[in-house]
Amino acid sequence: MKGPIAIAGAGPAGSLLAIYLARQGYGVTVYESRPDLRRAEIGAGRSINLALATRGIVPLVDVGVIDKVNEITIPMRGRMVHAVGDPTPALQPYGSHEHEVIHSVSRRDLNAILLDAAEATGRVTIEFERRLDAIDFDQSLLHFHDGTREPFGVVFGADGANSPIRESIIAKGACTFDDEALGHQYKELTVPAAGNGTYLLDPLALHIWPRGEFMLIALANPGGDFTVTLFAPTQTFDTLNSVDEIQSFFAEHFLEFAALVPDLETQFVENPTGKLATVRVSGWSYQDRAVLIGDAAHGIVPFHGQGMNAAMESVRELDRHLRASPDDLVTAFNAYETERKPNTDAIAEMALNNYVEMRAGVVDPAYLAKRTLALELQRRHPSHLSPRYNMVMFSTMPYAEAQDRATQQGEIIDAALADPSLDVDALISALPLLPKNDPLADPRALSTS
Ligand SMILES: Cc1cc2nc3c(=O)[nH]c(=O)nc-3n(C[C@H](O)[C@H](O)[C@H](O)COP(=O)(O)OP(=O)(O)OC[C@H]3O[C@@H](n4cnc5c(N)ncnc54)[C@H](O)[C@@H]3O)c2cc1C
Repeated sequence: MKGPIAIAGAGPAGSLLAIYLARQGYGVTVYESRPDLRRAEIGAGRSINLALATRGIVPLVDVGVIDKVNEITIPMRGRMVHAVGDPTPALQPYGSHEHEVIHSVSRRDLNAILLDAAEATGRVTIEFERRLDAIDFDQSLLHFHDGTREPFGVVFGADGANSPIRESIIAKGACTFDDEALGHQYKELTVPAAGNGTYLLDPLALHIWPRGEFMLIALANPGGDFTVTLFAPTQTFDTLNSVDEIQSFFAEHFLEFAALVPDLETQFVENPTGKLATVRVSGWSYQDRAVLIGDAAHGIVPFHGQGMNAAMESVRELDRHLRASPDDLVTAFNAYETERKPNTDAIAEMALNNYVEMRAGVVDPAYLAKRTLALELQRRHPSHLSPRYNMVMFSTMPYAEAQDRATQQGEIIDAALADPSLDVDALISALPLLPKNDPLADPRALSTS
């Protein structure tokens, strides 16, 4: 790779990529538009915590930071469903194995660990408050918002869903891009810790209040509080403008929840409302000069808890292709996109579908009957069937394969529920074998300590 090597963006993808490149021996400069999050205050209501799963854990094991990350995560063993009018929430476990849990983690603390690890390589310089505007490929210059310029040889665009690096690749005619708005938005709120610092809800589960067209979810933070997100159609948000409107909305749909948040209306008014979209990109690179990674290449809606996990898995894939073709970046970049894009397209679609499952399916008797049969069939045929959620969250099977398998399994389960005389065991045993237990099935067992 001909230097200088630059990365735009020090989010999860950019900071992780910096470590992987440093491990290959490269010197890298990361340009990040925001102040250093290890020192700056982050505004309330800006996606405070995330669900970390196997595809994100594996790269963290690779780069040797999993032990530090383990110290800041809270395991969530299933969905705690708060149905309308039911005072007792019900746990729907994610899986039947101990390691089939997802992990609530602070976005900021995880990112800070990656930034520290990148700097600790001695090969990575991170320049904060450097907003990139565009690339001049002909002059080999990166243009910054403040009018400054820096020379570059190769630039990695880890600059998120609104990527200016992608714009520069589009300007070269090498890339097409579609930004599909979901028509739903989100707002983050906080359930405070109880007076004695304990949790007001069970911290070891992902809480969902499904309400058909919209839902609330809550993930625990280590301090005893929960980050809660309301996902709802834009039209619903448009009706929530006054304190009265907010109060009656929560009183009508989320009464028990509202009782946990004394300053609910203030939080609702003060916290920003975020947009949701799927970013579809074809042409992730330009010659041997620039390549996109993470949300810049494949931004997805957050309903499968996979955006960051997918971004980190993509970094690992790109690292593999760079190692395979160190002297031929065009080949490496093209192979990376050819192999990866069908998988990121698959998770984009599964994430959209999972929204319906979360906001409506989890209390739908037909869905619950399917899920019960799927788990029973998994118990009877563990080598042939794994529920879609588990293949996505607890394996490194390519997303597109998980999607295909889930479709086949779903068809058999639907048929079996419609016709109980069907020999469902025979049909499931005829499915292709699942990949053999690889050591990554329980990546936390690979802890470096
Ligand atoms: C509400 C919500 C909940 C989510 N929950 C989950 C979850 O549970 N699990 C999960 O896996 N994912 C989740 N995600 C998705 C996850 O946040 C993203 O997929 C992930 O952050 C992508 O990482 P990235 O590094 O590609 O991009 P980003 O995190 O967007 O990082 C991009 C970085 O580039 C910087 N930057 C931007 N423009 C410039 C510029 N011009 N110059 C220099 N720097 C720039 C930004 O400041 C930022 O630091 C969620 C997203 C949302 C919105």
